[in-house]
Amino acid sequence: MVVRNEKVSDGPVGFLTRYQPDIMVFYHELAHLLEFQRSDPVRADPYQYRFECKTQIEVNGEEYDQPATCQATQREIRTFAIEYHLLKSHPLLCTFERDTYVDIAAFLCRLMPDFFNVPALPSTEKEKGLRVPYNQPQIDWCAKEINLAIDALSEDDVISLYRTWSDKHLSDASPV
Ligand SMILES: [Zn+2]
Repeated sequence: MVVRNEKVSDGPVGFLTRYQPDIMVFYHELAHLLEFQRSDPVRADPYQYRFECKTQIEVNGEEYDQPATCQATQREIRTFAIEYHLLKSHPLLCTFERDTYVDIAAFLCRLMPDFFNVPALPSTEKEKGLRVPYNQPQIDWCAKEINLAIDALSEDDVISLYRTWSDKHLSDASPV
């Protein structure tokens, strides 16, 4: 199958990315499919693989997405946790420290369309009266949640999710 942004068609597994294409991108998108397998199995079907915002706002007769929650960011957080365990299962890809991975993943969360709904984690820097970088309390909240999500899963959980997903959707898949 070919995954083009959010769609899949017959053929080899592949992804298109607007950034540097590498194996990390593949693992991130695979982690999204496994997150769907865990939270909403109907959406884990590669042919149903897409994201949508449930709430819209009309401006001058046009409908625009208007997220009312931070559910998309929360899904991204769960996905980063699955991706972490997938990468950890491959020693060759595991060239990073967990803290570095979480810091980068939390920083990327600010790109989510509903990030403005993410709550702020009380900042010790703020309490000390120091200047806190823009969005840092929200990024800190994401980092805390990513760590919790990583701890709530094991590598075996993720491999089991992959096997369940691949048995259902990839008839000739080999295990991770
Ligand atoms: Zn993602």
